[in-house]
Amino acid sequence: MTPDARTGLIDTDHLPPTQYLILEVLAARHRLGETTWTFPSRFRAVLHALADAGLIGWKSGVAPRSYIAWLTGAGRSAVLSDTYVAPAGVGRCGQTPPTMFNHAPRPVCALPAGHPGWHRADDGCEWGIAEASQQ
Ligand SMILES: [Zn+2]
Repeated sequence: MTPDARTGLIDTDHLPPTQYLILEVLAARHRLGETTWTFPSRFRAVLHALADAGLIGWKSGVAPRSYIAWLTGAGRSAVLSDTYVAPAGVGRCGQTPPTMFNHAPRPVCALPAGHPGWHRADDGCEWGIAEASQQ
């Protein structure tokens, strides 16, 4: 997979269907303010191919036999509009933990805005306790 000589972007329309759909899933989640998504380990080869193309990053997930993937800068350029602005108030908490590893995007709390108790990302990662003032 080589970038278009004119635009420098990878033409995602010519990706194998599973690669294309994984990029679309990550783009759709990104539009909702979630920077990562979890995939079953049976997609390892697909995730590896997308990472080799520079479109995504990925690592082992919290859940058994799962991987967490996210769009790289090149991946965002390939599948997201430069002018897209996420709608405000999509109903998610959206909090991120204060510190995490530097090599991956921080998880984003996927619970409804104003939820009580711990924040929890879609991959099951939990942290901190939501402040009552956030409700
Ligand atoms: Zn939360």
